[in-house]
Amino acid sequence: MRERAVSGQPDGTGRTPGATLSSVTERDSTTSDSAIEDARCGHHAPPPPCDNAPCDGTAASLGDYRAAFYAGRLPMAVLNRDGLVLAANPAFGELVGTDPDQLVAATAADLTDLGADPRVWTAYREVLCGRSDRFRCTRRLKHSEGQSVWVEVTVEPLTGEERVLLTVADISDRHDLLARLRHLQMHDPVTRLPNRALFFERLSATLETAAVEASGTGRIGLCYLDLDGFKAVNDTLGHRVGDRLLSAVAQRLTRCAESAADRGPGRGRHLVARLGGDEFALLVEDSTGTDQLAELAQSVLDALQRPFDLAGQRLSVSASIGVVERTANGTTATGLMQAADTTLFWAKEDGKARWTLFDPERNAHRMTRQALSSTLRPAVDRGEFTLEYQPLVGLDDGRAQGVEALVRWRHPQFGVLSPNRFIALAEENGAIVELGRWVLERACHQARAWQLAHPGGQPLFVSVNVAVRQVWDSDLVADVAGILAETGLPPRLLQLELTESAVMGSAGRPLQALQALSDMGVRIAIDDFGTGYSNLAYLSRLPVSVLKLDGSFVRGFRSQEHPNPADEMIVEALVALAHRLGLTVTAECVESAEQAERLRRIGCDTGQGWLYSRPVAPDRVEALLDAGRRTGG
Ligand code: C2E
Ligand code: MG
Ligand code: MG
Repeated sequence: MRERAVSGQPDGTGRTPGATLSSVTERDSTTSDSAIEDARCGHHAPPPPCDNAPCDGTAASLGDYRAAFYAGRLPMAVLNRDGLVLAANPAFGELVGTDPDQLVAATAADLTDLGADPRVWTAYREVLCGRSDRFRCTRRLKHSEGQSVWVEVTVEPLTGEERVLLTVADISDRHDLLARLRHLQMHDPVTRLPNRALFFERLSATLETAAVEASGTGRIGLCYLDLDGFKAVNDTLGHRVGDRLLSAVAQRLTRCAESAADRGPGRGRHLVARLGGDEFALLVEDSTGTDQLAELAQSVLDALQRPFDLAGQRLSVSASIGVVERTANGTTATGLMQAADTTLFWAKEDGKARWTLFDPERNAHRMTRQALSSTLRPAVDRGEFTLEYQPLVGLDDGRAQGVEALVRWRHPQFGVLSPNRFIALAEENGAIVELGRWVLERACHQARAWQLAHPGGQPLFVSVNVAVRQVWDSDLVADVAGILAETGLPPRLLQLELTESAVMGSAGRPLQALQALSDMGVRIAIDDFGTGYSNLAYLSRLPVSVLKLDGSFVRGFRSQEHPNPADEMIVEALVALAHRLGLTVTAECVESAEQAERLRRIGCDTGQGWLYSRPVAPDRVEALLDAGRRTGG
């Protein structure tokens, strides 16, 4: 550890210590100067039993203490209750660069920087006024020799005295050590950049000051960056190369930040930090708007575009950057990071190697998605879902043969939501299993009720949509068997609609499930057929009996004036092939009589669409049945 030359020698100034003290005594004649009296007694002995102990060689006299005060290497000063110096030792004089005699009557707070910080000042005054026993603080002082020193200032009353003792201990070494430790703790060893902890500390401090300080722009900006495909570098070339790459990236980022700060308005320091893994952040204090951040983000992308030459390897990387810029007031560190994280996700989602700006509208949409997703399951329990039914009509006789059950969410806040808003979310978070089971149960009950209400006629079958995850994550076969048994619905009156991809990808368990359902007598339909890459020959080997042609084919028919023969030919060929393979064909989205007629001529079996009916509530289906199940068209 270095030696600091703060402390002085008793005779360092060439003065007679006693002279100083006498001047103190003269100044403060009201109180006896018992703390510092006769400095000329040279004995070294234990402290005296009382203040006025004689200098008899057995106990330290006051003179001893006085001598110690002057000889001490620790800078000390005795103050009166107003904080004025009564006596200062040479070490103190040396610290502040003034003859200790000259310090008498000086304001101690000025000498030791106790006045600048209001909290320090208040605590110091508490001791002077006698309301507190001790005060200690750390200050940075300018030593008389020019260098800065870190000191610990302690102020405490002298027992039984109207005075206080102020001591100033040089803690520069300790402070430097702590600073070095803190540096290690707050920096990333690989890139030497500030780490996550320091980044958050700076971010919080910046937000705090920006909110109260009127001098800056009151804004803050953040580029949150993630390298694209960094994992592949680590996995294929090893962590050493990975680390070198991170370090090289860090250097380029730092250069970008420096040149942006040089170009930019004000003294805007940009903090570059490694937040972990291959994530970096560039924090712009006092930002001027989104343009500034966009420019910075683009310069980063440009800088990273040049390949990296690392240990004989030439590597190319790209990055995705989420950019957020906003007013500091009202912004929290967590809020800002969440926005940045979302925006980074968008940048990745939009194709990587780009920067994306935070978009409140897109975020609101995401929030809604999140809100919907998290409330799906409880909504099933609360009974917020309902089913509508849309007839499936025979194209040659116009009679409803069955109905498709379509789910709706009566959301207490957002109103009635169509399945396009929530089915995918339910599939993502698994709520589809419960929701799907509810739909199946409700639809089978309903179909059975219609059957019982119209005992004479041809009963309607019900067609229920089933998501892939229901086949994988639940015992669909047991559920269907249980529900059929419970409702008494004959299996032939139940049809399950699965999408092409669900069925085509099926092997093992899903295939066995389809087979078991089919063996039970339940019909399997392929929904939205033609949107995937189904292999008809393969399909014919699966237990599938119905193809539901996607609406886009029928839409392609156009009107009589603008026919699209290609679509019509494709449908014709598909229908012929399906029939050869023993499948029946239903066309979706039949909106006009003309389309219905063409589909009928082509040989399509059933149609579904607005021409016949929109999806309707169950009592409306009842009305259709009462009317002899003859629908429009
Ligand atoms: P989908 O199974 O293909 O259902 C047909 C969709 O086309 C329905 O939309 C229906 O309202 C709509 N549609 C019917 N006729 C016409 C028409 O003539 N023209 C046009 N443009 N559209 C027509 P919806 O009710 O919004 O359902 C959308 C999708 O949500 C369904 O497509 C289905 O994939 C899914 N879905 C609905 N209910 C359920 C359910 O209970 N479970 C699962 N897993 N998915 C469901
Ligand atoms: Mg369907
Ligand atoms: Mg469909």
